[in-house]
Amino acid sequence: MAYVFTPPAIVGIPVAGSNDSFPVHRIYCVGRNYEDHAKEMGGTGREAPFFFMKPADAVLNVAPGATVTLPYPTLTANFHHEIELVVAIGTGGSHIKAADAHKHIFGYAVGLDMTRRDLQNDMKKQGRPWSISKGFDHSAPVGHITPASQLPGIENAEIAVQVNGLDRQRSSTAKMIWNIAETIEKLSEAWVLQPGDLIFTGTPEGVGAVVRGDVLLGSVTGLDSISVKVA
Ligand code: MN
Repeated sequence: MAYVFTPPAIVGIPVAGSNDSFPVHRIYCVGRNYEDHAKEMGGTGREAPFFFMKPADAVLNVAPGATVTLPYPTLTANFHHEIELVVAIGTGGSHIKAADAHKHIFGYAVGLDMTRRDLQNDMKKQGRPWSISKGFDHSAPVGHITPASQLPGIENAEIAVQVNGLDRQRSSTAKMIWNIAETIEKLSEAWVLQPGDLIFTGTPEGVGAVVRGDVLLGSVTGLDSISVKVA
């Protein structure tokens, strides 16, 4: 039986140091996973993890050394950066225990959870879904994926974003409230994780707005940095 139109292409993210590509299935995101960011968003600091999603085709691939154009989205006047460590799932499963979580991880990348903050605040006030503020086109710039075997120190790595060369966010992945293994345990209670899933693990304090012309440089020690220019 034929498809009624050509199916959309699989979204692939290149794997660093190889000619292979990681096929993206779903994108999960953790909210408020660093204490000082939770506080700047009006929370208490520590609370049970919660999740939202972006569509797979929200990925904007950013090759190392390149500066990729990030279109300023419609419907916002407060377009925020959130620098995040991205976990790439290689082996699926449900009810994965934290002690086993590492067996399910293919690798890691640097990501930006770009956010229409004004719309997010409106939706929160009205008790409505966040999708329009988080899951829009090009809302997930991601760098190349480095296999986990090459990254022994990712649980205690510097994570930062600079805008036009000045620090906006700088912290450590060790400051996550729910670490990577705990996040996988909680997430896999709610969904059956699949190979190809990405997890944006939350952002540290210092989120803020960017405008057209700004250049963002996102980094996590040990991973390929990403550079995007808002246009
Ligand atoms: Mn985020």
